[in-house]
Amino acid sequence: MQELTHWIDGKHVKGASGRFSDVYNPATGEVQARTPLANKAELDAAVESAAQAQVKWGATNPQRRARVLMKFVTLLNRDMDKLAEALSREHGKTIPDAKGDVQRGLEVIEFCIGAPHLLKGEFTDGAGPGIDMYSMRQPLGVVAGITPFNFPAMIPMWKMGPALACGNAFILKPSERDPSVPLMLAELMQEAGLPDGVLQVVNGDKESVDAILDNEVIQAIGFVGSTPIAEYIYGRGCANGKRVQCFGGAKNHMIVMPDADMDQAADALVGAGYGAAGERCMAISVAVPVGEKTADKLIEKLIPRIEKLKIAPYTGGDDVDYGPLVTPQAKEKVLGLVESGIKQGAELVVDGRDFQLQGYEDGFFVGPHLFDRVTPDMDIYKEEIFGPVLSQVRTDSYEEALSLAMDNEYGNGTAIFTRDGDTARDFAHRVNIGMVGVNVPIPVPLAYHSFGGWKKSGFGDLNQHGPDSFKFYTRTKTVTARWPSGLKEGGEFHFKQMD
Ligand code: NAD
Repeated sequence: MQELTHWIDGKHVKGASGRFSDVYNPATGEVQARTPLANKAELDAAVESAAQAQVKWGATNPQRRARVLMKFVTLLNRDMDKLAEALSREHGKTIPDAKGDVQRGLEVIEFCIGAPHLLKGEFTDGAGPGIDMYSMRQPLGVVAGITPFNFPAMIPMWKMGPALACGNAFILKPSERDPSVPLMLAELMQEAGLPDGVLQVVNGDKESVDAILDNEVIQAIGFVGSTPIAEYIYGRGCANGKRVQCFGGAKNHMIVMPDADMDQAADALVGAGYGAAGERCMAISVAVPVGEKTADKLIEKLIPRIEKLKIAPYTGGDDVDYGPLVTPQAKEKVLGLVESGIKQGAELVVDGRDFQLQGYEDGFFVGPHLFDRVTPDMDIYKEEIFGPVLSQVRTDSYEEALSLAMDNEYGNGTAIFTRDGDTARDFAHRVNIGMVGVNVPIPVPLAYHSFGGWKKSGFGDLNQHGPDSFKFYTRTKTVTARWPSGLKEGGEFHFKQMD
């Protein structure tokens, strides 16, 4: 069986802890590799050499750093097929979806090529007599990213792109469930000209995450994953004096108004609910039609669309709609929640429990499920299912639908489908959720805006990618300078207003 490695100082390095985690091929159910789980000593050593490498990298001018990223983009495009195949093999998502995963990361790297512009400071000429004042953005030093399984290319790139462009060294602790693509990204960064040691990939689990949290050299941590872990990392990281941003789980509602184009709404719900087998933090998991008639119509339109979904391994062609879940545990959790939904009285309109794929009986495939008449007290409403399960919650009015989304503890994404501009505008303005779609089911902001949820979906002040990321990965220093012609007055003992 293949034994994966860490990437330290520009080389593949075998794990030394003696602990490993299985990496599945979710389509067949086979364990195809094992990944080493780093201990504290391995993590600390990687950080120490990153700190040395950072000194020169931080002093490299931003344009030269940006050129490395420019070359990296070219290499990503060159290796797109290879990356997508490796990604699908470990994650299970379809090849077009895997390419989208790489592409959305690549776009953030493209944004980071603008580092020379984004890192420009502020300057006030003549803040006082002979006095100039200027602010500069400086790298933090060594920073770390801890990333989830569901976007093994995109999210590591969302983190490493801005961190490196700003002149930091970056420690990536990717998900232990699909670590091959992050290692490939590191190889490509080296080929693009990134000096060894500036990007280290340390594979691991809680032990290496705790080592990151407690390491005194690491200045900042960007995390993406489930909410309980986000809260844990935010709490312990902040207590240790680090700058921390954590993005957590989600329960995204899509409001369907009676005036919406129902075909468009149903198409959107099927794509956003079942795409990537529902393993997206921006997946729509709750459909919220307003009015009984809207609800009935929506169900009528959803059922035939859901029944037509093609579920197959990534090798099944570009028309596959979604593949297997990532692990047997993920499958078990989703099917357990489906059972709880039935027990707690939801109406299972499309039942995917008996789904089997010939030749792939041991794969982690789950058929699509649609629940109607779900209520907020049910576990299928309260929990993030992260599987191909869509719940419909019926509401009587726009205000009730809005309150439902607002009362939910998560606040990552939401959408409204309507033809009425007033309602759409009111919704976008009032809803307490970080990313909002108007007739767009998955409103993932593009690279030059920033991505972040509210409430239990995001902890920390700044968002991911976009201009916020350059603020997160730098600190501001402000200089007040007076030159000799202004230095004639003798000592000053009080704060003085500028003349
Ligand atoms: P996860 O929380 O299980 O793991 C995320 C990372 O944390 C991994 O690197 C993992 O090794 C580490 N980790 C796991 N358990 C830990 C522990 N006890 N202590 C310390 N570290 C630990 O998440 P996942 O299953 O890989 O990803 C799915 C979750 O991520 C979903 O909840 C999804 O909504 C969320 N997600 C959120 C966003 C967002 O931007 N808000 C984006 C993608 C995924």
